[in-house]
Amino acid sequence: MKLSDPHLAILRRDLESRRRQLEAELAHFEAWSMSQLGFGHALLDDGSAAFDQATQLTLRQNTERLLTQALNALDRLEAGVYGLCEGCGEAIDLERLQAVIDARLCLTCQRVQERSPIGRIVRPRPALLPAAAPA
Ligand SMILES: [Zn+2]
Repeated sequence: MKLSDPHLAILRRDLESRRRQLEAELAHFEAWSMSQLGFGHALLDDGSAAFDQATQLTLRQNTERLLTQALNALDRLEAGVYGLCEGCGEAIDLERLQAVIDARLCLTCQRVQERSPIGRIVRPRPALLPAAAPA
């Protein structure tokens, strides 16, 4: 079942507020990195500072990844393919999208993917391409 406009509007609002929040977090990481400049040599000998830097980097990379996912979801929304499973092309359950707003796979395909030894079955978006006419 395709998502209704009111549902899409709510999901879009949530995605946009998530994007703003993640962008604010990245700006915070940016400011933190800048504040570390100039203290670098003194801090390099300090184990806890090095740990802080590693932790910050991990958190920042995670935030960047989440932001990319949110932006991709917004792109799919614009393209009218948001909420369609990239594995089977079926609509993803609204409950799943509400729980995982940037889900790209339906629960069934997600489970198949998690069981797959390769860990990945994601193919280039078939839903974006015009359906191939049977030969
Ligand atoms: Zn699927």
